[in-house]
Amino acid sequence: MAQSAADKQYDAVIVGAGFAGMYMLHRLRGQGLTVRVFEAGDGVGGTWYWNRYPGARCDVESLEYQYGFSDEIQRGWTWTERYAAQPEILRYQNYVADKLDLRRDIQFETRVASATYDERDALWVVDTEKGERVKARFCVMATGCLSAARVPDFEGVGDFKGEKYHTGGWPHEGVDFTGKRVAVIGTGSSAVQSIPLIAEQAKHLTVFQRTANFTLPAGNRPLARDEIQKTKETLLEDRKRARTTNGGIICFEYNERLVEEMTAEERYRELDDRWHLGGFAFLGSFGDMMVTPDANDVAAEYARSEMRKAVKKPEIADLLLPNDHPVGVKRLCLDTHYLETFNEPHVDLVDVRSTPISKITAKGVLVGDKEYEVDAIVFATGFDAMTGAILGVDIVGKKGEKLRDKWAAGPRTYLGLGSAGFPNLFFITGPGSPSVLSNMIVSIEQHVDWISDCIGRLTAGNIRSIEARPDAEDEWVAHVNETAAATLYPQANSWYMGANIPGKPRIFMPYAGGVGVYGEKLAEVANADYAGFALGA
Ligand code: FAD
Ligand code: NAP
Repeated sequence: MAQSAADKQYDAVIVGAGFAGMYMLHRLRGQGLTVRVFEAGDGVGGTWYWNRYPGARCDVESLEYQYGFSDEIQRGWTWTERYAAQPEILRYQNYVADKLDLRRDIQFETRVASATYDERDALWVVDTEKGERVKARFCVMATGCLSAARVPDFEGVGDFKGEKYHTGGWPHEGVDFTGKRVAVIGTGSSAVQSIPLIAEQAKHLTVFQRTANFTLPAGNRPLARDEIQKTKETLLEDRKRARTTNGGIICFEYNERLVEEMTAEERYRELDDRWHLGGFAFLGSFGDMMVTPDANDVAAEYARSEMRKAVKKPEIADLLLPNDHPVGVKRLCLDTHYLETFNEPHVDLVDVRSTPISKITAKGVLVGDKEYEVDAIVFATGFDAMTGAILGVDIVGKKGEKLRDKWAAGPRTYLGLGSAGFPNLFFITGPGSPSVLSNMIVSIEQHVDWISDCIGRLTAGNIRSIEARPDAEDEWVAHVNETAAATLYPQANSWYMGANIPGKPRIFMPYAGGVGVYGEKLAEVANADYAGFALGA
């Protein structure tokens, strides 16, 4: 355990020790800065530390879902499966932490409660929930986009007498559902991954579905030695190329042809080949898939017809097939035996769109006047995404302005990196950047590199502060909104839109312009002496 940080002053404080916080620490320390990382968990890993539910694995392929900044690190690690399972990813993160000796600057089991900007000294005053206080010139929020797990405020949750779990805070020792009646609430990615494995153990499983999701075959398999070896030779170059792409992924190409330029046979071939390849390749079927309803409809219709084939009972298939949003505008779920699980006699699907869950009772879940008695409830109900963990810290900027107030009508950032009124505060993969629409490790590295270079230049030039200018922020927010409006993304009640949280502003939070275009903008801004930012002497 690292030593206590009480009353110390650092060059930088980093909040969070997932992929983002770990790499940020490595970069800043490498620049000779003193750094303190605070992490709520008792180990590194972030997402992969918390989400230990059965079936948890990446949906970006392992060979791409890894750091690309160090040849030594990547050569020293060998992935086993096309999509690594959570324990393997967490082992990898611990391997990186060992290799870079990161833990000595990380204070675990310490949640940051507040960060207040002291204008006179240009320092962030960071308070932890344990009552410690440190000061730092720079504060970096590496708090994660999907780290504020959320149980909906169902009436009676506290009354339930059985076991309760959230996928995003799974017990480290695992859970044995053998012989139990289990409820899973939710049918997003976490549910799609965990349901088949929970069903293998449970005596009876009831799944409560509000929105049917598009699921694509994952096509998971062991990796072959030659593909692993080939990636080891090319990863660093591949990563540079990934940064020029839309989604930070190079394992498949996007078809640039528009749907109207293709014959029916060509469309079918494209969709069918990509579907059977597994993973997100399907998203690249047509150049206009995410912008034109007609193109999207063709892909959605194909997906529904394939999904239907997996489900034996037509009435269950009708419920499982998504009909209320375009394909791809909610995060697609990768399926390994998910749909087939509903063919099992001990698995039931309950539609809670037509009749919502009325309450949780002492014995189970009440829907209308029907009570489903269970021994355990799994909340696969997602996260307060993108803003939840940032605003979980009481951040107070210049003139006592709270970030929570500033963002009350939706997040406002310049480039997703900073917010006007909050100097020297950086967000990694913050709202207004490609973030969750991309391979997150590519976006994390893009941000960490930019922030480190920026801090390096400020320090070298004796510049005390950097702050987003309000006009640049307004323009960027407008650009993020326009870019989203030109796509089909806003057409779904997704967590990208904040729609999963009652009362949260409906704003499409990530930047839909793509990692490559965004990277060019980042470089342009840095090369123009941080255009759009105000630098304070
Ligand atoms: P996180 O890993 O979320 O780490 C943030 C850390 O900050 C956490 O450990 C948290 O405890 C800590 N923290 C937050 N607030 C505080 C505070 N106030 N004080 C102290 N500590 C705090 N993305 C992909 O690109 N591909 C995938 O395949 C993929 N799969 C995913 C699977 C799951 C189950 C989930 C939930 C997300 C997945 N994601 C995926 C997104 C994933 O979150 C990112 O890929 C990545 O792991 C994020 O890293 P991070 O360091 O930014 O944030
Ligand atoms: P999610 O996608 O937000 O899914 C939450 C589920 O809970 C949805 O089905 C939602 O229904 C349902 N729900 C929420 N509130 C409800 C209520 N009051 N009543 C009934 N149902 C309710 O969360 P997640 O599955 O944890 O995934 C979040 C993100 O994490 C993913 O989109 C992905 O980016 C990442 N992730 C990735 C993987 C992977 O494959 N690598 C795995 C897990 C997570 P509605 O859709 O109607 O809101």
